[in-house]
Amino acid sequence: MIQANGYAAQNETSPLAPFSFERRDPGPQDVVVDIDFCGICHSDIHQVRGEWGNSKYPMVPGHEIVGKVAAVGSEVKRFKVGDPAAVGVIVDTCRECENCKAGEEQYCEKGTVETYNSKEYNGTPTFGGYSNVIVTDQRYVHTISPKLDPAAVAPLLCAGITTYSPLKHWKVGPGQKVGVVGLGGLGHLGLKFAHSFGAKVVLFTTSMSKAEDAKRMGADDVVNSKDEQAMAALKNSFDFILDTVSAPHDMNTYLGLLKRDGVVCQVGAPDKPAPVAAFSLIPNRRSLAGSAIGGMPQTQEMLDYCAEHGIVSEIELVGVDKLAEAYDRVVKSDVKYRFVIDMKTLKQ
Ligand code: NAP
Ligand code: ZN
Ligand code: ZN
Repeated sequence: MIQANGYAAQNETSPLAPFSFERRDPGPQDVVVDIDFCGICHSDIHQVRGEWGNSKYPMVPGHEIVGKVAAVGSEVKRFKVGDPAAVGVIVDTCRECENCKAGEEQYCEKGTVETYNSKEYNGTPTFGGYSNVIVTDQRYVHTISPKLDPAAVAPLLCAGITTYSPLKHWKVGPGQKVGVVGLGGLGHLGLKFAHSFGAKVVLFTTSMSKAEDAKRMGADDVVNSKDEQAMAALKNSFDFILDTVSAPHDMNTYLGLLKRDGVVCQVGAPDKPAPVAAFSLIPNRRSLAGSAIGGMPQTQEMLDYCAEHGIVSEIELVGVDKLAEAYDRVVKSDVKYRFVIDMKTLKQ
């Protein structure tokens, strides 16, 4: 077994604290990645704090993992020792169901094995990227370009693919008017992608102090979502709206902004349900949809697209001693725009 060190939550109220555990020895298909950086996703906070009701402790969070290959199994050809490599939200799936075969492993019928707060199919608990090393089957490991700052690449593994995938699925592009709700980790990448795909992009925010940053990242307009008049003026005008908000909020407002056949796609995952009125959906034949991360082929496509177009996350690099502070700032919508943990600080 490989000795690993990380930070874990022991229950829903305890602060993250140092934790030692074991990773499996690499099998023929496995890649051992020494972790350099791991992003802090709001999903980490939801799960550490038990907000989704699915939490298993001890929990080592982290599913935006970037590092270097430390060892490879005998059948691994795509990676060699020293290569940059990345692991996202999924570390295994059945590989045989319709969705796995379609490369949409995030919807695996047997259930995905997630990077943390999950179990391998043999029952072993999974531990995530707030740690020094991870062992993952090569099918779930991605190559990353050495051209990009690896710390700023880390958030692409969840926030990036979660926004890229629905924008691609609903064919967002030139001639469309697209809304992004919330300028956090997901929102700022959704904004960059929608702009890069050629759409006209409006950012909806509760933090008008972020307006200038949003424009720099490609927003054509920034709207204060608490300004009822400004919201009313936009009714029936959007093709697609990507909602990344992490807390319960009124979705009817955004549905009302859709024109005929428009779609609101919910990627934010608040812990409580929000009511949707039939009359938010019926006019204009509107749809309310959801989307989960993305499959392995599309995740690699997104990473390659980012390398080609110079798209990365805007990050604040933190040490492991600042996790509590970082979590509090994320919850207060005060992250600019993703915290990434520098895993060197684990060794000190
Ligand atoms: P984040 O960085 O905290 O961003 C969320 C943003 O939502 C905030 O920056 C804020 O933007 C806005 N917001 C927060 N509270 C709000 C409220 N009460 N009312 C209105 N707006 C509010 O979080 P994240 O990491 O991007 O994650 C966002 C959500 O997506 C989380 O629920 C996370 O679990 C979920 N998620 C889902 C998937 C998936 O596969 N579907 C994948 C990853 C994450 P402004 O300051 O601009 O208003
Ligand atoms: Zn995430
Ligand atoms: Zn499957």
